[in-house]
Amino acid sequence: MQLQPSPTLQAVFQHVPDAVFLIDPSTSLILDCNEAALAQVGLTRDEIVQHSVLSLQKDVVGPEQWASIAQAIRDAPGYYFLGRHRHSGGGEVPVEVHTSCFAHEGRELFLSVARDITQRVALEQEQAARDVQLRYALTDATDGLWDWNLPTGEVFFSPQLKRMLGYGPHEMAPHLNTWVDNVHPDDTAWVQRVLHEHLDGLRERYDVEYRLRNRNGHYIWVHDRGRVCDRDPQGQPTRMVGMVENITDRKNAELALQDIASHDVLTGLLNRRECERVLHQQLELCRRLQVPMGLCLFDLDHFKEVNDRFGHKVGDEVLREVARVVKSQVRSTDHVFRWGGEEFLMVCADIGLHHLVLLADQLRRTLEQTVWPDLDSLGRVTSSFGVAVYPDHGLSVEELFMSADSALYRAKANGRNRVECAAPLYPLQMPPMTAAPAF
Ligand code: GH3
Ligand code: MG
Ligand code: MG
Repeated sequence: MQLQPSPTLQAVFQHVPDAVFLIDPSTSLILDCNEAALAQVGLTRDEIVQHSVLSLQKDVVGPEQWASIAQAIRDAPGYYFLGRHRHSGGGEVPVEVHTSCFAHEGRELFLSVARDITQRVALEQEQAARDVQLRYALTDATDGLWDWNLPTGEVFFSPQLKRMLGYGPHEMAPHLNTWVDNVHPDDTAWVQRVLHEHLDGLRERYDVEYRLRNRNGHYIWVHDRGRVCDRDPQGQPTRMVGMVENITDRKNAELALQDIASHDVLTGLLNRRECERVLHQQLELCRRLQVPMGLCLFDLDHFKEVNDRFGHKVGDEVLREVARVVKSQVRSTDHVFRWGGEEFLMVCADIGLHHLVLLADQLRRTLEQTVWPDLDSLGRVTSSFGVAVYPDHGLSVEELFMSADSALYRAKANGRNRVECAAPLYPLQMPPMTAAPAF
């Protein structure tokens, strides 16, 4: 059969971007096709025209299958299927085929339009892979997900997130308050600030570490990260999605390290490094507030003998007990440090010389009177004190420390188990605020 379309129709037919085939339903022979069809399967016109359409199809085999397909095409107004065309180069082309049946000059014909969907299939495969990843992230990954609808206040909590907090899959009301109510009260202000700065566009992302109460009422540390992903036409955020990681173990290890870095392991007192930091900070504060500051350096007497007679372990026990006794005696605002060995330092803000000397002497007496239940033969453990006060005995940390140290040296030289005051360094500029009591 020879079809004679008009030149216009012929041009349109050739320029349709999809492959178009004209097929004889009774024989399955291709009567005509356009340029796109030739390109799609990599064949010449002679290799296609007057050949069965089945030679192109990878999914249709044999005349029986063609007969049933041809019937379905006749029955349906527009027959549609997804298939694969063979390419002469050896590969295959995924196609979406629409076939319709029509009559021309008393003869039945099929018009098949085959669209190359290679790109779409690749995208679908990629999407399917992403769906699997998402499903994994949602249910099995260690991090929990949340998805917040800002206008309604509804929040989707992933099963993993609920599990992290000890809840079952059907617990935790899907609302923002469920979350807010469980943030540690000390962390709420900071979390809210970071969140609002992100919502207002001042921070690129919401990223914050805080404590969150679990179902048992205990707090776990979490790293919470999120981002606004939808905004309304006015730019207001409407949806935010985030991820929560349980970092309790790491955080506890970090805090323990910080503690070790600033505390003396034996006595639990703040260590020398921390002491230097606090000393500068406190002196600055007292200078600004124009109040005095006391420094009290004390050292156990003949401590070497304790070690020599009773051993290092007993010496350690004595150091621990001295630290405990001293801590229990001082004001909550006073800082006690282990300066090193059997030497301790106390820093007291807003205390005059008179009261500092009284406090030091009270400590001296308490230590002297301490009984050592498990160490009968230890006898008394005494200590010597050197005190100095800002601004009388020094204007800087270094001057104050040297003043207290010389006073301690004098206490040792004058027989030990006593408190000595530093000599005034600046008697003319700033007379001592209080007079030292006589001992
Ligand atoms: P003084 O009255 O002149 O202060 O005499 P002292 O024996 O206390 O002074 P000295 O500085 O000669 O000795 C301090 C001793 O403190 C020596 C050291 O073995 C002991 N010591 C320092 N640190 C520790 C510690 O962590 N544990 C124990 N058990 N002893 C320590
Ligand atoms: Mg000593
Ligand atoms: Mg010493």
